[in-house]
Amino acid sequence: MLVNNNLYKKSSKSQKVRCEICANYCKIADGKYGICRQHKNINGELFDESFGVVSSLSPDPIEKKPLHHFMPGTFTYSIGGFGCNMTCLHCQNYTISQEYDKKSRSIKISPETIVENAIRYGCKSIAWTYNEPTIHLPFNRITSLLARKNNLKVIYVSNGYFSQKSIEEVLSFVDAFNIDLKSMSQDFYKKVCGADLDIVLDNLKRIHNEGKHLEITNLILNDYNDSIDEITQLCDFVAQELSTDVPLHFSRAFPYYKMKDISPTNPEILFKAREIASQKGIKNIHLGNI
Ligand code: SF4
Repeated sequence: MLVNNNLYKKSSKSQKVRCEICANYCKIADGKYGICRQHKNINGELFDESFGVVSSLSPDPIEKKPLHHFMPGTFTYSIGGFGCNMTCLHCQNYTISQEYDKKSRSIKISPETIVENAIRYGCKSIAWTYNEPTIHLPFNRITSLLARKNNLKVIYVSNGYFSQKSIEEVLSFVDAFNIDLKSMSQDFYKKVCGADLDIVLDNLKRIHNEGKHLEITNLILNDYNDSIDEITQLCDFVAQELSTDVPLHFSRAFPYYKMKDISPTNPEILFKAREIASQKGIKNIHLGNI
């Protein structure tokens, strides 16, 4: 499907296009894909090959997203696609985000069927989750608007790497977010995730300032982002730049993908993180994968 032309720019001198769906702003030559491998330049126009193509569909307890303070006790209809705009070496879902066999695993589905399924399963919301939803903005925007017409709420479980344009759009149809704040180190974001920390921090502030429901997840990896200093910085950011009312989830990491050599996160560091967050006044702190 052709991407809406407000989400990409054509070059006046070449057949290149600049995708503006996420903060990578990929410049894509004719016949090539952007970083997420879902959008292709065909003759100077941007096509979304992920429209209506998903990898996973499942009714889940909303707490599994994790969202513990938004319609607790309800089910959400979870939808995931393929690909990602980051390249995290430790990705826990790499079989759909990085190394995937789209031909054998993909499911074609319409917005109408997603909404019908959600209602049939008794879900109160739909959740864009499992892989990064922002890269599927054209599909999840149409589906989300239909879901809202049918009294379903919309959830985004995201890495927060929105472009200026996508954050505007996403804020117009999403009710609740869980954003993965991976680290407070620019170096970590660059080397481990191929991304820019400041963009994620700005988007977190924007979501919070818009009054949307926001919870944050921090996946802690031994020896990478587990220092007391860094956890303190992260808690300071949440408490001072957002609010002590924003729930914070610390989660344990396991060896995955290109980080098979790490050991599972020491639970003690999660207990310490909870203590630090509590000292900073953060009211709702949850520990995951433990
Ligand atoms: S969605 Fe992001 S990663 Fe994908 S092509 Fe567009 S700018 Fe690049």
